[in-house]
Amino acid sequence: MIEKVLIANRGEIALRIHRACKEMGIATVAVHSEADRDAMAVRLADESVCIGPASSQESYLKKASILAAAEITGADAIHPGYGFLSENAQFAEMVEAHDLIFIGPTADHIRTMGDKIAAKQAMIATGVPVVPGSEGGVSSISEAKKIAKKIGYPVLVKAASGGGGRGMKVAQDEKVLEIAIQTAKTEAKAAFGDDTVYLEKYLGKPRHIEIQIIADTHGNVCHLWERDCSLQRRHQKVFEEAPSPALNQAQREEIGTIVARAVKKLGYRGAGTMEFLYEDGKFYFIEMNTRLQVEHPVTEMITGIDLVREQIRVADGKKLSFSQEDVLLVGHAIECRINAEHPETFVPSPGTITDFHPPGGPDVRLDSAAYAGYRIPPHYDSLIGKLIVHGRNRNECVMRLRRALDEMVIGGVNTTLPLHRRLVEATDVIDGTYNIHWLEEFLGLD
Ligand code: ADP
Repeated sequence: MIEKVLIANRGEIALRIHRACKEMGIATVAVHSEADRDAMAVRLADESVCIGPASSQESYLKKASILAAAEITGADAIHPGYGFLSENAQFAEMVEAHDLIFIGPTADHIRTMGDKIAAKQAMIATGVPVVPGSEGGVSSISEAKKIAKKIGYPVLVKAASGGGGRGMKVAQDEKVLEIAIQTAKTEAKAAFGDDTVYLEKYLGKPRHIEIQIIADTHGNVCHLWERDCSLQRRHQKVFEEAPSPALNQAQREEIGTIVARAVKKLGYRGAGTMEFLYEDGKFYFIEMNTRLQVEHPVTEMITGIDLVREQIRVADGKKLSFSQEDVLLVGHAIECRINAEHPETFVPSPGTITDFHPPGGPDVRLDSAAYAGYRIPPHYDSLIGKLIVHGRNRNECVMRLRRALDEMVIGGVNTTLPLHRRLVEATDVIDGTYNIHWLEEFLGLD
């Protein structure tokens, strides 16, 4: 039985996990770098252990230090959050080899899904529609040219080990294919230590729609509907909503059922997200994330299900606390990612938060570990919070989001709040008629 969880992460997600644990009567251990001594999760956790200097390589990515902290504090389980070691198969294996519970899927599933080529093949085998492209990695330019000709230009060169939008290059025609492959390979090698790349048809105006699933070890799999994460900058999500304004109930039930069936076939355990591009009424699988997503709260708001609680329950061998018929879809939810960045140039803005006033009122949720006087360290991701609002319908949700954004004050550093205030006034956002390129066009970045 899980009685003490070590949280192997930082920032808002560390706090989110702490909150779920407390509500379950589970003790928490926060691990932190020297730069995060004053972090909110460290203050609130039952115990905390400093695991190294500011550099993530020396702290949040240092597997041995995290395991040692678990051993010293007598934790039974480790929750990896998102990013850092959350999709590191070797870490999952090490956790289990130390007789600890990894709150996530098996190392094998993490490994398969972490290799985008293997993931696509697994999806084809389970009947999930994928983006047309090369069957595996491309080994030569002449082979790539042949495949690209067959699928039709433009094509997208993608890194097999890719993540965070890195190692991805569009080739509009054959003339630029070679250079696109070389650039993608160099970027992938530097970022992931693996320069395997593959080709996909480049979709011109798709939406990014992903399906949340959760599975227990008793053969129960549920989907929790979709999230629309089409508002992106540099392939990174900025604003997410559920349900998608582009789907009707029959479509969401159909894709949810396909995904849940595939996940059951895979014998998957824990929470996961299948990401799709959606264009002209068709879904195309792009990847599966084997962890909790940043944007999970929008799903929690429309279903009333605490995903972190369920993750902990299934990791502990318990059954899901609900069945598919119990998964409600009530109203509409939107999340804004608030980063400490300049709202136009997106230059990170670390520093001290001088004023902090969270919005409140009905159906407003703020997942943030920030507070007045908090010093944002320059060493990590610039996400400082997520504002999530719920409404009985999309219109009410947008109106509520506008007033919540107006109430919110973060002083002392630049944030992306002004960008979100502009977004909720934009006609295409109000109407829900945007695709993955819309935001960059809106920002004049294309
Ligand atoms: P990463 O793991 O690096 O985030 P993904 O495969 O999840 O990469 O893709 C990230 C984003 O890149 C998608 O949400 C979409 O905006 C864009 N993208 C990926 N594949 C395609 C494609 N075949 N055509 C057009 N855009 C794509």
